[in-house]
Parts: sequence; C-alpha cells; structure tokens
Amino acid sequence: MIDKKHRKVWRIERRILFLALFVSLVFGGTIYAQIRFPSGFAVAIDDMGWNEGGSLGDTGGPWRVGVRRNFDVRDYRPIVEVGRKVGVRFQGLFILSEMDRLNLLQDYPTTTQQGENFDNTANIDPSQFAMMDYVKENAAFLEFGLHGVGHEHWIDGNRTRAEWYNIEDNKPWPEEDMRDHIEAFKRIMAQYNLSPEYGHSFPESFVPCAYGYYWNPGGEYSTGALMRENGVKYANTLFQQIEELNPPDPGSGGIDHGVLVVDRQNFGNPWYALASLPTAPIDSFRTDIVESHWSNWLAHDDFLQEELNERWVNFFEEVQQSARFYLAKNTEQFASQWLYKQYATVIEPTEGTVRIDNREMPKEVYTNNLLGNMVLAVALEAEQHVCSATLDSQPIAAYYEAGGFGFLYLPKLDRDRYELRYSLGKERIRPSINLTGTYNVYAWEPGKKQSAIDLQMYGTQEVEIYTDRSPAEITSQNPHLVVRDYRYSDDKQVLSMTIAGRDIQGERGTIIIKH
Ligand SMILES: [Zn+2]
Repeated sequence: MIDKKHRKVWRIERRILFLALFVSLVFGGTIYAQIRFPSGFAVAIDDMGWNEGGSLGDTGGPWRVGVRRNFDVRDYRPIVEVGRKVGVRFQGLFILSEMDRLNLLQDYPTTTQQGENFDNTANIDPSQFAMMDYVKENAAFLEFGLHGVGHEHWIDGNRTRAEWYNIEDNKPWPEEDMRDHIEAFKRIMAQYNLSPEYGHSFPESFVPCAYGYYWNPGGEYSTGALMRENGVKYANTLFQQIEELNPPDPGSGGIDHGVLVVDRQNFGNPWYALASLPTAPIDSFRTDIVESHWSNWLAHDDFLQEELNERWVNFFEEVQQSARFYLAKNTEQFASQWLYKQYATVIEPTEGTVRIDNREMPKEVYTNNLLGNMVLAVALEAEQHVCSATLDSQPIAAYYEAGGFGFLYLPKLDRDRYELRYSLGKERIRPSINLTGTYNVYAWEPGKKQSAIDLQMYGTQEVEIYTDRSPAEITSQNPHLVVRDYRYSDDKQVLSMTIAGRDIQGERGTIIIKH
C-alpha cells in the first residue's frame, strides 16, 4: 500500500518523468540536430547576347537590354569574375539574333521585326568572336543558356509578346514555328563552332522571354516538350504570367515533359537598371532562384565596375551565410537540391547520425536524369571541421567549407533510405575532394593503390584533393576531359589537378589516380 504522502511524491515524480519524456520527444531532435538541409540558391541572368542595348520597344521592336550602349567582351567579365570569387557558375540566358553573322534569320521571319529583310551588317565584326570565345572559355563560371532568338514574335513586322508563347492572346504559337526558332538558334550557335560537330551540346537551361511559357504537361505539345527533345532540362519563369494554363503554385515548380520548371520572382532589381541588386532581405525571397538581367551586373563605366562586382560578391557571401540558403554551384546542382527539398526528408535522431528518406522521389526525375548531388550543411565553430563523413559506410562525393558552414556533397540518391554518419574535429575529412570549383562530383572512390573520381567538368578548373597518398600517374577515361597538369604538396598533403572539359554544357568522365 502507498500512503498519502508517498502517493503525492509518486505523482510529482510521474509528472517530472512525463515532462522529461515530452521535452526529449519534442526537443530531442533540436538539441542534437546539427545537420542542416538548406535550399540551393541561384540567380538567372536574362538578356545576354544582345550586341546593342537600346530599347526599340516604342517602335515595334525588341526592348533589348534597356540601356543605350553597344556591348563587347568587357561586359561579360563581371559575371565571370564574381563567379570565380564566390565559386558559382551563373546561369546566363542568351538572345542570339544580333550574333547572326550570315543574316540567316531572313529565313526565319517571325524571329525579328525586319523579317525577310533582316540585316545585321551593322553588328558583324570580330568583336562577336571575342565575346563568344570568352563565353566558351569561361564555361566554369558562366553557363550558356537559352533565352531566345529575337525575344518577341513578329508577323509581317508586327510584334506580339513573346517568342515562345503568345501572352497577349493567351495562346501557344504553332509548334512548327517554335521548331524553326530552335533551329535558328542552333544555326547561329554553329557560326561560333558551338555545335555537336565540335563537341558542344545544346543549352540545358532555358528562360522563356517575358515569362511566356506554354505549360501543358498533360498535352502532346508544350514548351517543355519542345525544349526537352532538344536537350533542355531546366527552366525557370514567373508562373503568375501564365495563370490561364494552371501552372504550379507561386514559389513552387513541376515537371513538364521531362523539364523541371520552377517559379522565379524578382526582388527589386528592374530589368533595365544598371548596377542593380535585389533589394528585399534575403530571408524574404519567395523563390530559390531569383531574377536578374544583364544590365544589373554592369556599371555605368569601367572605373565603377570593380566596386559593383564587390557588391555582388558581398550579396552572395551573405546568401552563403544565411541559415536558409547555400550557393548552388551550378544549375544542375540547384535543380537537384530543389527536388530533394521537395521529396526527401532528413532527420538527425542522434548526434552525428542522419537518416535520409528519398523514397518519395518521382520516377520521372530518374528517367529524365534530373538528379545529382544532395547538399547538407553543418555550422562550424572556429578551427572546427567535419573530420569524417560516410553515407551507408561509403565516402561522400565531396566536401567544402564556406560562410561558417561545412557542406557535405552526397552522391546522387536512389529512391531509398540512407544513413549518413559524420563527426566534427580539428582536421578535415581525409581523403576527400575539396569542392572549391563549380564542377559536380558524382562519386569519389579512394583506395590504397588507386582512387577514382566520377565528375562533370565545366570549362577548366582546379580539382583539389586532401590525400596523404602522392600520385604516381593520373589519367582520364574520357579523351575530351583532359588532366592538363597536377601538383602534390607534401607539406599540406594536398593534390591539385587542372582539368579541362570540352563540352560547354559540361564534360563528364572518370579520373583515375594511381598512387
Ligand atoms: Zn528577356
């Protein structure tokens, strides 16, 4: 028998026990949760590629850049220089009509105001090669994406907005017309040797002009269907512009015939404004990819450009330090994380053990090859590093530190459950790839006699590996993915390789390091 006094004590003890149980259930995860599952962040840069900037909007022509000046190679450098500093390959969206050196757009009269009388003589000069060569050579930091041929749609010189969908009458353009526009874009690309013959693919990224996108996943013809058959995998647009087509909700996205289409909004930088950054606080952004235009990256004059580049660098560093975002290194990586954020769950039931459930990932994501790395982050204190990390007992793909975080790049996940184990300490993970660049690492297989890296290279970049095994021989299994040279530092025990990929849209292959 329990007497009154003891019964009371028992009741209090029971309450404490319940309270403790409650606290541990509700806050248990929070107390130990160090792992973060941030959203990737990206900026799209529309309307690159124009040779002249002044708007012709008032006289039935294209609005172009909304800045009355001519462009040359100097106007491409800010994007590459900022990309190099923050480790991002920015998504550039190109208009190619004024890069046409053969006036072949006469054969595609709906692409320009002049139609069959299109004459680009005023723009044809060697500076065009300088610009396009620069774009090709800097694929590490600037992505060549598709925006359009002439930006609008002209019938007998009469303009209707916009190139890929009629947003004035809310109806699609004839499919044949759209195929012609794609063909015209390809033929202008080929004038700069950007063609399959020279090992270059069609752009993977697309932004429809004036957000005119024919969203029609259930039908036979859509902008996505047209784009997918030409190689486009990723698109972003403002869904609000095509409400009549029942697109996904604002701030979200969906798959249209194999193309991942995500909503993209503007946070304060007008399309025509020179030297203009988003003005809204980063944490208030309603989309993970935000809008910018070429003008926004350009200063009024050369002597002001460096200061503007610094402002963009600061902006991206602020993004990297935010709790919500990390800087996606390239569009594929952005899209991949976007999909994981939609469909995967990540929990850390005990410190250093993370459970990932990716069973809800749609199958069409795999059939369309839209998925790559998952990125998880750990907030680090001074002198602290992630010193070990394995996914189901295998090495993770790569590791990178920036903005006070350690970023874990996991290999592409199947529709399955995984366990990530990691620990913090004074030394970085060894051996591991230090992902300072903008390339993608799909697999890292270190070994005693031989190590292998499966990667996708954009342009020419340094690949840095923390390893105590010096290399005896390094080879690439893809002849178009070339190891230009390498150095091994015995002091730091770091191997650096300069690797160049041919395809402007990324060159994938396996690098073998013999020790
Ligand atoms: Zn545009």
